[in-house]
Amino acid sequence: MGPVTCPECAAPVLPRARSCPRCGHPLAPPPAEAERREMRAGAVAAKIVAVLLVLYMLGVAGYFVYDHLL
Ligand SMILES: [Zn+2]
Repeated sequence: MGPVTCPECAAPVLPRARSCPRCGHPLAPPPAEAERREMRAGAVAAKIVAVLLVLYMLGVAGYFVYDHLL
């Protein structure tokens, strides 16, 4: 990643800066924004896995109950 300059005043800014230190112009969101999106997608996947796991456990429990009733 090369040097970043403010699109408003062309002042050099840090690549991860959220706004220009000279004029305060808001800059493009840092890569952390995309990471957070990925984390949200991961959380959804984890919830799906958890639901499937619970359904599987209920199925196993139901199988054992059924087995004992016979
Ligand atoms: Zn600026």
